[in-house]
Amino acid sequence: MLLENKTVIVTGATRGIGRATALECARQGGRVVITHIGDAQGVGDAESLIKEIQTFGGQAIHVGADAAAPETGEKLVAAAVEVFGSVDVFVNNAGICPFHSFLDMPQEVYLKTINTNLTGPYFAVQAAANQMKRQGSGGSIIAISSISALVGGAMQTHYTPTKAGIHSLMQSCAIALGPYGIRCNSVMPGSIATDINKDDFSNPAKKQYMVQRTPLARLGQPEDIAGPVVFLASDMARYVTGAALLVDGGLFVNLQ
Ligand code: NAP
Repeated sequence: MLLENKTVIVTGATRGIGRATALECARQGGRVVITHIGDAQGVGDAESLIKEIQTFGGQAIHVGADAAAPETGEKLVAAAVEVFGSVDVFVNNAGICPFHSFLDMPQEVYLKTINTNLTGPYFAVQAAANQMKRQGSGGSIIAISSISALVGGAMQTHYTPTKAGIHSLMQSCAIALGPYGIRCNSVMPGSIATDINKDDFSNPAKKQYMVQRTPLARLGQPEDIAGPVVFLASDMARYVTGAALLVDGGLFVNLQ
């Protein structure tokens, strides 16, 4: 029960990495705020996750709010405080990666990606940090960055800067918020099988290439990311701030 008595907000928690993370946080005793974009699909997915959490006596609520909107952070914090009384952990996970070539990148695809992955999250991190400061007992902020913060991708020229940017934000916030006992870290997943890359990996040759490049010889699963997030959220990581934890099965260090 590493997160007992902690309220944990996980953005984009209806599917993929966010869902697995929210579930594990609840298993570890955290009171979880599940967020999603707010459409009927999101509500249905969130309600099914809450039911799953309740089967083992966990507590969770859901809030629909667009991660791209600068005011979403305040909305999430208000809901967490109203129902659970605090915000102790904020996991910025919601993100999109609409694969597109560079030379003909439409402005709207670029702006939607930047706003969802970086601009909205900037103000959400600010809202969570202000609440943690008011509470006076510190906190943990975790950004789901990416291996793409460290390497490039021809179809991801709009995405990789957001992942490098959110990691840079964690580094600067670690300094800005250290005096309040608020720790800020990034998790950098490698290739994790979720909806975000379903189309990309529907090409068996592409999938096999990625598996063969990975020393642990498989794609990651969302559950592979949940444990490292719980570690950084918990007091076991009490002296860890400004750090990045690469969770990629060894993909990054394999040059050949
Ligand atoms: P996913 O399966 O597509 O899930 C994305 C989640 O984000 C969904 O719950 C979705 O909620 C939510 N979301 C998307 N846009 C949103 C918005 N505007 N407002 C609120 N919620 C929104 O993707 P994933 O692979 O789990 O990705 C999660 C994070 O991990 C992303 O930040 C991604 O960049 C990062 N990451 C993934 C990989 C990978 O290989 N999968 C690798 C490195 C980093 P709805 O259901 O409501 O749309």
